[in-house]
Amino acid sequence: MNIGFIGLGIMGSPMAANLLKAGHVVIGYDVSAERVEQLVALGGKGASGVVEAVGGADVVITMLPDSPQVEEVAPLAVEYGRPNLLYIDMSTIRPETSRRVARQAAAAGVRALDAPVSGGERGAVDGTLSIMVGGEAEHFRAAQPVLGVLGTTVVHVGPAGAGQTVKAANQLVVGGIYGLVSEAIVLLEASGVDPVAGLDVLAGGLAGSRILELKRHTMVRREFAPGFRIDLHHKDMGIAVAAAREAGVSLPLTGQVAQLVAAARAQGHGSLDHSALLKVVERLNG
Ligand code: NAD
Repeated sequence: MNIGFIGLGIMGSPMAANLLKAGHVVIGYDVSAERVEQLVALGGKGASGVVEAVGGADVVITMLPDSPQVEEVAPLAVEYGRPNLLYIDMSTIRPETSRRVARQAAAAGVRALDAPVSGGERGAVDGTLSIMVGGEAEHFRAAQPVLGVLGTTVVHVGPAGAGQTVKAANQLVVGGIYGLVSEAIVLLEASGVDPVAGLDVLAGGLAGSRILELKRHTMVRREFAPGFRIDLHHKDMGIAVAAAREAGVSLPLTGQVAQLVAAARAQGHGSLDHSALLKVVERLNG
């Protein structure tokens, strides 16, 4: 298929590379020309703007930072895309934005899906992302050959916006676990217990998690190169808090985690990996 890919950052770049490897023709666009050149070096085509990237595409994928960028790009995909285009937004944005994009797309005969991902840069490189898809079941079936290249867990979770709601739930759980692992490290070290040995035991028991499995050693060594930046997690906690408000539910732990992530950002750690939540918990303790 001809795939227009817009947003070739930490995630989009390896995802576009996997689509190329799978034999698709990928025409990519990013506001950073360097990112476009990297795709061309891998055998992709470079576009000079969104309109060029979407023009001849059977499928358009966006992997952009936040709602404002999707609000800017999606209308162009809808307007300049082929009739019956499949438009898959894989960015993490507000559910209400995804619903609005889906409505505008449907009115123009474009099939839209929201399909945010989990699994980080590693998952994007390996093609093992978890993908949570919102939209019409029929559109989901049409997207499966493409999404199957990018991820191993690809689930249709409900109508337009539902993918983003599941992603918000994912992010509040991830943020909460990072906060608690940080507290565990601070407690172990303050008590004179070796945190490496302590966390090895936690990782093997009921407290075990993928975060403990993948991140405990770098956290103890205070290595916080991203990965997933605090700035993006701050955006995601905002989405989770807003989604809770819209759904009329109280999520007290999510509120606290959102404040910890905001503190990490305010302390100048926005460009570090989200495991740098440990720096905030340490600072609380002098
Ligand atoms: P990133 O900042 O590395 O990439 C975003 C890219 O979009 C950049 O290259 C930027 O130049 C480009 N861009 C911005 N505005 C644009 C526009 N108007 N037109 C074209 N290109 C534009 O971010 P990322 O880490 O790749 O994340 C992308 C999305 O995926 C975010 O919504 C993020 O929350 C989500 N996500 C990221 C991870 C992760 O581990 N990094 C994991 C899961 C989900």
